Amino acid sequence: MTVPGPAIEADSATAPFFAAAARDRLLLPRCVSCGTWHPPEVATCCGPLEWVPAAGRGVLVSWAVVHAAPHPAFADSLPFRTALVELAEGPWLQVRLTGAEPATPVAGSPVRITFAHPAEGASYPVGTLEGP
Ligand SMILES: [Zn+2]
Repeated sequence: MTVPGPAIEADSATAPFFAAAARDRLLLPRCVSCGTWHPPEVATCCGPLEWVPAAGRGVLVSWAVVHAAPHPAFADSLPFRTALVELAEGPWLQVRLTGAEPATPVAGSPVRITFAHPAEGASYPVGTLEGP
């Protein structure tokens, strides 16, 4: 899948997340102590975090159409949709929303997490709306 945008570079903290994305798998950090799932950017809880496979499914919380490029690499893909997805495990994930339909998504609609594999930079998750 091609989703235009700037190249993403993984660092030591995010390497497991992006390595899994390259294999079309979503990992989320989960606390070993209390069991709480976190979004990928969270690095602390009451105990150590471990990367655990997630279902890769959720529901649409909100979405927006981006008309002004936040980075020059997005200029050729305007307008595009971005969304907040509540994953089945609980954390919210911000993703590009792929696919043209429906034109007006509805909160609560099921979303499947798929992965973009750009020619340069790390693979990353995107969201695809699924039918009811
Ligand atoms: Zn915890």
